[in-house]
Amino acid sequence: MNYRGFRTGRQRSGILSIIALLMLSMIVGCSQSNQNQGITSEQSPQAQEAGSTPPAQSEKTKVVTTFLPIYLFTKAVAGNVADVEILVPPGTEVHEYQATPQNVKAIATANVLVKNGLGLEEFLENIVKNVQNSKLAEINASKGIKPLNEISPVVKTAKEEKGHSHDHAHAQGNPHVWLDPVLAKQQVTNIRDGLIAADPANKTTYEANAATYIKELESLNSEFQQTLQKTPSCTFITFHDAFPYLAQRYNLKQVAVVQIPEDQLSPTDVQNAVSAVKKYNVKALFSEPGVDNKLLTSLSKDLKLTLRTLDSLETGETNPQHYFKAMKANLQTLETACK
Ligand SMILES: [Zn+2]
Repeated sequence: MNYRGFRTGRQRSGILSIIALLMLSMIVGCSQSNQNQGITSEQSPQAQEAGSTPPAQSEKTKVVTTFLPIYLFTKAVAGNVADVEILVPPGTEVHEYQATPQNVKAIATANVLVKNGLGLEEFLENIVKNVQNSKLAEINASKGIKPLNEISPVVKTAKEEKGHSHDHAHAQGNPHVWLDPVLAKQQVTNIRDGLIAADPANKTTYEANAATYIKELESLNSEFQQTLQKTPSCTFITFHDAFPYLAQRYNLKQVAVVQIPEDQLSPTDVQNAVSAVKKYNVKALFSEPGVDNKLLTSLSKDLKLTLRTLDSLETGETNPQHYFKAMKANLQTLETACK
């Protein structure tokens, strides 16, 4: 069990812990799945094919990807010259995902498997070994990316200290690299190179599509830089430790992950939250799209901070352009919250 998140914490109930993290963290949580987000399948990617004619259906390279951001990047690079599937349906929690028989079958018959890596896709561990698909090429999209895995000072409630500690060691670091446009570029490059190695016949297409998408990632990065340089060191609390890479990139501080119980906040819980907000001079409080938690709303009132939503992109639309849409919405949220 590498991940213990918001949801698990909630299930332990009665526990509110404030884990203060100074930008770096080992605690990888994940929020509830975002049920209210639309899933649009079969949208055609913006990435254009260039230079080669798609082969007939039966000859296409079969590529399976693990979850949404990796699907978006892979689909952008592959365009229509390969068949790209997603294993974890958007709307389903990736951190604690259990593979289905269909997933096993998909991996058993695929040519290429693309994963985020950094320990995120625990559900893959045994499948790949068991299916013994000798033609399967595996692409680790995070290859060469140095993970953040240092633990930061932690503020805990008395209750939490008595209970199960969730600041356990996390061997492979925080996996949420796709939320930094610069690291996303690295992931797209890794995917491109992996696809070319597995399917050299479509090299020119993969190169052209990747170049188009990377250009968009570069301009997204400039937009983030230009906007967020106006609010240096803006400090925020999040309930899902998904943004340390983004924070590091743009000189923000993800200070704390707060675990909220299902039932009730104790006065001590609220007091601890308030003092953490003061201590770290927190400007913003972020939940996620689709999470409707009354306790978060009431806590935000006690903290005198507006509760806003930041999207970790673990769920959403399956059009490769969705990445830019969601990230620009995140930028707007950060800009408003950090003012
Ligand atoms: Zn996550």
